[in-house]
Amino acid sequence: MGSQEVSSTVDWQGKHVTVAGLGVSGIPAARALHERGALVTVVNDGDDERARAQAAELEALGITVRLGDGATLPPSTELVVTAPGWQPDKPLFLAAAEAGVPVWGDVELAWRLRGDDGREPAPWLAVTGTNGKTTTVRMLASILEAAGLRTAAVGNIGVSLLDAVLGEREYDVLAVELSSYQLHWAPSLRAHSAAVLNLAPDHLDWHGSMAAYAADKGRVYEGNTVACVYNAADPATEDLVREADVEEGCRAIGFTLGAPGPSQLGVVDGILVDRAFVANRQKQAQELAEVTDVNPPAPHNIANALAAAALARAFGVEPAAVRDGLRAFRPDAHRIEHVADIDEVRYVDDSKATNTHATEASLAAYDSIVWIAGGLAKGATFDELVTGAAKRLRGVVLIGADRALIREALTRHAPEVPVVDLDRTDTGAMSEAVARAAELARPGDTVLLAPACASMDMFTNYNKRGEAFADAVRARADESA
Ligand code: ADP
Repeated sequence: MGSQEVSSTVDWQGKHVTVAGLGVSGIPAARALHERGALVTVVNDGDDERARAQAAELEALGITVRLGDGATLPPSTELVVTAPGWQPDKPLFLAAAEAGVPVWGDVELAWRLRGDDGREPAPWLAVTGTNGKTTTVRMLASILEAAGLRTAAVGNIGVSLLDAVLGEREYDVLAVELSSYQLHWAPSLRAHSAAVLNLAPDHLDWHGSMAAYAADKGRVYEGNTVACVYNAADPATEDLVREADVEEGCRAIGFTLGAPGPSQLGVVDGILVDRAFVANRQKQAQELAEVTDVNPPAPHNIANALAAAALARAFGVEPAAVRDGLRAFRPDAHRIEHVADIDEVRYVDDSKATNTHATEASLAAYDSIVWIAGGLAKGATFDELVTGAAKRLRGVVLIGADRALIREALTRHAPEVPVVDLDRTDTGAMSEAVARAAELARPGDTVLLAPACASMDMFTNYNKRGEAFADAVRARADESA
């Protein structure tokens, strides 16, 4: 059982560690290593006022900080600990590779330090994928809580793993969201069980290729002890399971929106069922919850719920807790959020749909849609998305810098669908988009903000974009009340 052993036998005393990047992961990493006796140097590209203030705090503790030079490897370095976002082809990492110096990310560091204070470390249930990570990890935490376990949703979700691992609170198990960047820098991570929800091209500029991106996602399965959970509708995820080197007895568990085969979770007559963690999986299936227990019960979200359920069941959670946890779960804002109904038209905010894969899922959730889309395309193409959704589109309202790309795809694949092209990016633009969408909508339709694009051309972030949409909808609701 090598993988479950605590691999924190590193003697930090006097070890020269270079921490790459001040910031949310770098500062706590530098402190934790310094406390353990390491000789820490932090290197950082930026040299602005904020960086200087942060540097001063670390220097007061006796940590060396070099601002304005994140490229040069300090000569005595024995280990580099990097912020996850730093691109692997940076000169610092090339120098480290040449010198045979290992590089760890924030997740690797947390993994290595867990239990080094003598406490029994909590196992990790890990989730990655292109879309749905946050939702699935939160559903999983909700299920684990319903089972009476001490747990938290941590990782690429706002709560740092290092804090969770080193903090005062004791956990029975952690629900861990991992990005492909974090996995890239986490060579020895060994989760109890893990899920890859889906794989679509994203962040390819960082990883260099789709194959490299997939390989980094696939690391989440390495050394799993109980279950590798894959998406039966996305064969690339199953391929990653096949390629993974897991512990003896670890099982491949699929999830599907259809009827499950043996060793799968799936859906039968509106019921989420488990044909994996039952005594006789050839003949038996265990009822877990109803589709209507999933909030919202859109197809992709049912897939997320099944993945969360599979991980919880792998950890030994009872069926009733799966149901209770799913019922208690509330989605985060701007993820298929129902804002209001006006004149029998439903208004839904999925501002978090910042890529075509997410938008495809959200368009699949409704029958007749007035779609508000556009923004920064980040190199995406829209032909496949538009072709798949064409028959469900009542109309389209386009906003933002790259809207012409979507319009062209609509002209090619859905020429009969009316399109309003809004040539304005001021603060009133979203309100006009909502007004024009309302004109196109018929009773029973859904007006869906699912932009398939990033928001930064018009808004600070996707939250602000979603809020602008919701404000405009509520203003209309007040008028019509
Ligand atoms: P992530 O943490 O991976 O970014 P979120 O749970 O925050 O995922 O959801 C991001 C976006 O992806 C949302 O717009 C949501 O509608 C969409 N989404 C969620 N789950 C899935 C899924 N399983 N497949 C495709 N899209 C999804």
